[in-house]
Amino acid sequence: MKIFCIGRNYADHAKELGNKVPTQPLIFMKPPTASLRDNRDFYYPEFTKDLHYEVEVILKICKNGKHIQTAFADDYYKEIGLGIDFTARDVQSRCKEKGHPWEIAKGFDHSAVMGKFLSKEQFQMNNISFHLDKNGETVQKGNTKDLIFDFNTLICYISTIFTLQKGDYIYTGTPAGVGPTVQGDVLRGFIDTEQIFECEVK
Ligand code: MG
Repeated sequence: MKIFCIGRNYADHAKELGNKVPTQPLIFMKPPTASLRDNRDFYYPEFTKDLHYEVEVILKICKNGKHIQTAFADDYYKEIGLGIDFTARDVQSRCKEKGHPWEIAKGFDHSAVMGKFLSKEQFQMNNISFHLDKNGETVQKGNTKDLIFDFNTLICYISTIFTLQKGDYIYTGTPAGVGPTVQGDVLRGFIDTEQIFECEVK
């Protein structure tokens, strides 16, 4: 199982971190040990002092494919979910300054929170509304209509480089509003009004 993540896929988020809007998808990966499911608690890692949440819609890949064409991309996922791409922002900033890879800031254990998955049939892929609440207050709000690269474009592009396999996931990017989280916070993600995950930071 592979976890692909897309960076800077909402213009307002790219802007808030002082990054340019990309001209092709920015891809990085997390290892399988990054996944955190079943509403389990997340333990604040020792190597960061600035852990950020990034709420993201997740695609669950349902069959293998390479060089997938746009017209068929839609067949490669049947379910969507919601999760958090936890990021050690201080570590990431140091990596970026030095031109180093991001893995230690993004791929650590349990950095990929995943909630339940829902059949995509009940949604329009270009109009999925989602939000993240921290301690009962909404801190991030997004809609997939604002994606720079839509789901099918991401599937096509990733599959030109990596073979997509059944069971892989794609975190499709975060909207504006990312911010720090501390021990004791309870993070809850919603698609429309339905709660998809809950995660307490310990
Ligand atoms: Mg992200």
